[in-house]
Amino acid sequence: MLDRVVYPGSFDPVTKGHLNIIRRAANIFDEVIVSVFNNPNKDPIFSMEERVELLKETTGEIAEVRVDSFTGLTTNYVKSKNASAIIRGLRAVSDFEGEFQMASMNKELDPEIETIFLMTDSKYAFLSSSVVKEVAQFGGSMDNVVPKVVEKALLKKYNNK
Ligand code: ADP
Repeated sequence: MLDRVVYPGSFDPVTKGHLNIIRRAANIFDEVIVSVFNNPNKDPIFSMEERVELLKETTGEIAEVRVDSFTGLTTNYVKSKNASAIIRGLRAVSDFEGEFQMASMNKELDPEIETIFLMTDSKYAFLSSSVVKEVAQFGGSMDNVVPKVVEKALLKKYNNK
């Protein structure tokens, strides 16, 4: 079995909650492909290239991590990368239903691919990219929730608007 896994997500932008999941996955698996999903139903504030760049800058020192992006079905992408599983993070109860639906659908689409959930570190249980964007918009401090480069990128985005 190949211990290569894919951690897909919007990462708009990457937060310390995502990075916690990425580090922990990197401690378990040989290779973690963190991949920005270009979701046509969402209207991100960072472009695909910007999200990839921020992930590269913030995961650079983790040897097991590679950063990529994709469109289309996650299961097709995972297969094309010869990966064995999808990693997702689970926060409060509210994540459960959506994640359960998605994992079940993905299992239907490709029974060989497992979805593995890592429980959030309680420090980040209420942290999401959306909350970070709201705080950034009103100039609040983001020290505990995003890395410095992400904070800078957010402030630049909102100052230019
Ligand atoms: P998506 O649009 O795919 O849900 P996100 O970037 O919001 O993309 O999240 C990607 C994954 O990371 C999801 O599995 C989500 O539950 C998980 N995640 C997001 N924030 C946190 C956090 N603070 N702690 C743990 N997991 C998280």
